Amino acid sequence: MNADCIFCRIVAGTMPATRVYEDADTLAFMDIGPIVKGHTLVIPREHFDPLTQTPAPVLAKLMAVVQKIAQAQMTGLRADGVNVLQANGTAAGQVVPHLHFHVIPRFRADGHHWNWAAKKYECPEEMQQVAAALRAVL
Ligand code: 5GP
Ligand code: ZN
Repeated sequence: MNADCIFCRIVAGTMPATRVYEDADTLAFMDIGPIVKGHTLVIPREHFDPLTQTPAPVLAKLMAVVQKIAQAQMTGLRADGVNVLQANGTAAGQVVPHLHFHVIPRFRADGHHWNWAAKKYECPEEMQQVAAALRAVL
């Protein structure tokens, strides 16, 4: 529990939230600023952050709930699709520093468009160099 963390306060019940699922390790609740109505956040009860420092068994439990929420959005909200997003660090757009997955129901006519501007590598060698930097630490 981190007293300064709003999501820890939601877990503790001292901050209100509209819960949709909870178990011993995980909580899912409605995002107050939905990209699309039904946008749900899935968090571990324990304070972990970021993804890179979270134990893999915690992530495994969390991802099972992410799937459960996505399935509920497909069946309960009749979503046509689902986006799953997760941000680490302010450079990645993270605002709340308690690990969370965004599970967002998508509808063919929901009007939301990602600002996803695909770029190009300067040359094939540049992509190979970037891949080599990753392989070197994996
Ligand atoms: P991030 O940018 O950190 O990945 O996303 C944080 C998310 O938390 C945002 O989508 C924001 O709308 C949501 N959020 C921030 N404060 C609260 C809150 O007090 N209650 C709920 N339910 N969601 C919150
Ligand atoms: Zn927290």
